[in-house]
Amino acid sequence: MSRCEAQDDPLLVMLRRLPIACILTRVADSHVLATNPAFTQLFGWDEDQIISRHSTELPIWTSPEQPSEILDRFNRAGRIQQFEAQLQCSNGKIKPCLVYVEDIDFNGEACRLSIAHDMSKRTNAELALKQSEAKFSALFSDSPEPYVLFAKSSAKITDVNRRFTEVFGYRPQDVIGKTAKDFNFWRHPEKRPAIINKLLRERCLRNEPVDFVARDGCVLNCEVSSNFVLIGEDRCILSCFKDVTEQKNIEARIKHQAYHDSLTDLPNRLLLQDRLQQHLALSERHGLSCALLFFDLDHFKRVNDSLGHSCGDAVLQEISRRLLARVRKADTVARLGGDEFVILLTGLSGNTAQIAETARLQAAELLEAVSVPMCIHGHGMQLTCSIGIALSSEHSHTPEDLLKHADTALYGVKASGRNSIAFFEPQMQVVVSQRLQLETDLRQALLNGEFELHYQAQLDARTQSIIGAEALLRWQHPEQGLVGPATFMHVLEESGMILEAGHWVVREACSFIARLMLQGLITAPFSLSINISPRQFRQANFVESVAAAIEEFRVPRQCLKLEITESIMIHNISDTVEKMNELRDMGISFAIDDFGTGYSSLSYLKRLPVDLLKIDQSFINDCTRDSNDAEIVRAIIAMARSLNLELIAEGVETAEQLAFLQQQDCHAYQGYYFSRAVSEAVFCKLLEQMSVSAN
Ligand code: C2E
Ligand code: MG
Ligand code: MG
Repeated sequence: MSRCEAQDDPLLVMLRRLPIACILTRVADSHVLATNPAFTQLFGWDEDQIISRHSTELPIWTSPEQPSEILDRFNRAGRIQQFEAQLQCSNGKIKPCLVYVEDIDFNGEACRLSIAHDMSKRTNAELALKQSEAKFSALFSDSPEPYVLFAKSSAKITDVNRRFTEVFGYRPQDVIGKTAKDFNFWRHPEKRPAIINKLLRERCLRNEPVDFVARDGCVLNCEVSSNFVLIGEDRCILSCFKDVTEQKNIEARIKHQAYHDSLTDLPNRLLLQDRLQQHLALSERHGLSCALLFFDLDHFKRVNDSLGHSCGDAVLQEISRRLLARVRKADTVARLGGDEFVILLTGLSGNTAQIAETARLQAAELLEAVSVPMCIHGHGMQLTCSIGIALSSEHSHTPEDLLKHADTALYGVKASGRNSIAFFEPQMQVVVSQRLQLETDLRQALLNGEFELHYQAQLDARTQSIIGAEALLRWQHPEQGLVGPATFMHVLEESGMILEAGHWVVREACSFIARLMLQGLITAPFSLSINISPRQFRQANFVESVAAAIEEFRVPRQCLKLEITESIMIHNISDTVEKMNELRDMGISFAIDDFGTGYSSLSYLKRLPVDLLKIDQSFINDCTRDSNDAEIVRAIIAMARSLNLELIAEGVETAEQLAFLQQQDCHAYQGYYFSRAVSEAVFCKLLEQMSVSAN
């Protein structure tokens, strides 16, 4: 059959009109008899490139095996229905097709009709679906966050991912087919309806904080995000349960650290201020009052200095435990730093007197609690404290007022001898501001050179000759005139200005000796005593600074005597001894000032390389009237003898006192009886007179 022959054949006409790509092949020789426009349209091949060619040589095949594979299939079943094949287009593209092959009779000749159905559109859609399914399942199952899929209609779980199992401990088989309620997933089930309503209303949830209970019973803080999704035909809710427990814990820890003292775990200043604010507002509304107790350990610095900081820390921890044990739960014990604590008593009712009494009783209890002896790192000790109290109802209305006023009251206690309680009174503020003013003025005095040294002669009663002098600090105040150390020494000490002032004293004393020598006023052995405060002595470069001053003014070393007090012994004794030895090696001697008023511990005294004891003036004062004092003076003198120490009595005012001392064989003295501390010019005159009278 030729192409022309069959041109009008009704079957061929129908084939041409068919909107599906067709090829008609003769079975006998496998040559193509006819094709149709739909074929050309689908694949781009012209009829000429197809017709009369052997069916295995058609350009539509994408591999040489493809036609035989199709033929095999055909031979097995006698027909081909819906065979998926990739076929080649003239433009090089590949088209996915569904192929149908069937034998037909064409004008008595066995022919084979092949039909190709274009699948590309359908395939694209399927591919996209498959890809999105793959993506979803990868996202769902491999997500680093726990995911759960719920059926929207029943709220039953239809799937959970691996991470869900890891975090909550439930395996898929434990929860699939169940609602969250069935396995008590919610920590607070009563919150569930509101959250579900929110999801329905807003169509999604974003980082909703919800707590869940894991399989092992642990509570996990989560942030839930939910969306509606369509999986196949099913409407579902996809929820992510982000576990933020750790994050929340860290946040809580950071917050705790910001508001608590790390040593005692008590609230710090920040939290105290917060609580004060709240309680003051509350008290005002309910007609109640608060009391603020400002608490400070007495001489805590000594503990730190002598026993070390770790011991000091342990003391503070013990104190914080004691304070906590003695207040009501509702009250706040805070640590402001160092040895400063604050106790806030709230909800106090009654008139001012009653409130004050409650606060006083509480403070007295704390005072007692602190004074119970304690043993820290093997060191037994008994501490005391001072407490300043301010009441909210009285003069203090803001947190700042209360804190400031209680602090002022505490200052009052400290100034009047410690180990007790004081309530804030407005006039206290005057004292505090005066003290601040004094500090400012002293700074200025140091800058302006308003300090000077006065000198009090020290004598040998046997010869009535001047054997030395004590240098005593004076402040030439621009308005008040000459001011003695009793007014300002404690401020110099507490503010640390004593270091600068003390350094000046050492240099000034050395230059004084140099001037005396230049004027030929000291020929016989003469020693100038200077007072050294413990703080100054503890300074790291103290030895060097004294050595430098001696060097600078070329002072004979035996002319300098350093007066220290027994309190120096409670600080690092080995360091003290070491420094004293260094100075003594340089030829400088040491005197213990105010002897008898401090610790007077024989064992300490034996360890200290001192040369001289100064009997405190308080004993001299009454030694002729009070037999006790006389006895003490005798004892001190005996002690000095046994330790082979020199002696000098200070504060000798009368001839009787001097006579008593001489009877005890103590001949060196200093006091108003001979002379007060006088200016350099006056002292020089004294020296001159003495040398004249001696000659
Ligand atoms: P202190 O070292 O015990 O000095 C003796 C004090 O007693 C001096 O008081 C002196 O004027 C006074 N005094 C002397 N004889 C008599 C007397 O017969 N009767 C009475 N009632 N008092 C007498 P001042 O000068 O007021 O010094 C007081 C304290 O200030 C000194 O006591 C000393 O501890 C300290 N001080 C003075 N100058 C300095 C200094 O340069 N550095 C340091 N760190 N402290 C100093
Ligand atoms: Mg002295
Ligand atoms: Mg003294």
